Amino acid sequence: MIRSDLLKAMLPELIATRRDLHAYPETAFEEHRTSRLVAEKLEEYGLTVHRGLAGTGVIGELRNGDGEGAIGLRADMDALDLDESSALEYRSQHPGKMHACGHDGHTAMLLGAARYLALTRDFDGTVYFLFQPAEENMAGARVMVEEGLFERFPMQAIFGLHNWPGLEAGKMGVGKGPIMACADFFDLELTGVGGHGAYPHKARDPILTAAHLITAWQTIVSRHTDPLESAVISVTQIHGGRTSNVIPETLTLSGTARAFNPEIQDLLESGMRQMAECIAAAHGLNARFNYERRYLATVNTDREVDMAIVAMLETVGEANLRTDMEPTMGAEDFGWLLSECSGAYVVIGNGIEGSHGCALHNPRYDFNDDILPVGMTYWVNLVHSLL
Ligand SMILES: [Zn+2]
Ligand SMILES: [Zn+2]
Repeated sequence: MIRSDLLKAMLPELIATRRDLHAYPETAFEEHRTSRLVAEKLEEYGLTVHRGLAGTGVIGELRNGDGEGAIGLRADMDALDLDESSALEYRSQHPGKMHACGHDGHTAMLLGAARYLALTRDFDGTVYFLFQPAEENMAGARVMVEEGLFERFPMQAIFGLHNWPGLEAGKMGVGKGPIMACADFFDLELTGVGGHGAYPHKARDPILTAAHLITAWQTIVSRHTDPLESAVISVTQIHGGRTSNVIPETLTLSGTARAFNPEIQDLLESGMRQMAECIAAAHGLNARFNYERRYLATVNTDREVDMAIVAMLETVGEANLRTDMEPTMGAEDFGWLLSECSGAYVVIGNGIEGSHGCALHNPRYDFNDDILPVGMTYWVNLVHSLL
């Protein structure tokens, strides 16, 4: 059980840290100020600090007793390329950058847990506090894994959390198995023969070919994928042509593909490539198709979900816990960590009204400071129950 007097005493610093991070948002792999602030605080609390993993990543290591057990708790530190529209006194001081996903809150909650556990040392084993860069767009977790996260800091399980607008503050949720989809990104360049819009027979038209292809790709979802599986192909950009009476020589298009099941992911990639090449060839064009698997699906492991449930029950009580959170086709780079280590990713309600209920990545969103103690308590309870 967390000591409520200590938690209460730590709360003002927790709120101040969260708002300070909010005022100075930094994006992928450029979280230098944030990283320095995190490392300095961890050192001040008495943890062993490892800097420089994935550039700006910071690992705080806290050992106690002689227990062999080790777990990792992860927070993301990065912000988004977005202009904040709020009148908050701690609004973003960095034009074009904003903490619109609440990673300022995630970082503050984990710092709070590190401070509490370093002070009380009421566990037996090792806790690694992972502060990672570049969750948004650039999959910083993948870079940490590639730079030897799990070899340098061996752990039996890893845990993550995300604030959840639309779920009441004070509630938590989790689901077993796949909870977030993979996020793959593709781009295609079609090259034909440019010509006069009045003489299409003398050209090889990439625009008409793209129209066929975009429609055909949707049959991968509707005709090639088992209807009981989930898959998404979204073409989100198409660029070609500059004037009304010229058939352009080239056209580019790009977008994103999502799935939970790696076999479906394989099907999406191979099916899209085959259709791009064959449909382009059928129209007398060349296709150059790139497909990047940037985020793996986030798949919770049953045992660790059960462990997280124990800690969540203690934190918010049965009436405030949802154990049936539905998976979403959104993505999270925590999937890279779960691809190497057992673990669970849970959500914590950010509220349902105003800036707290506002969707993530919206310029009016704000992390709810009222849930700082909830997240911090969850981390502490998790350590208590596991170590
Ligand atoms: Zn986000
Ligand atoms: Zn996020």
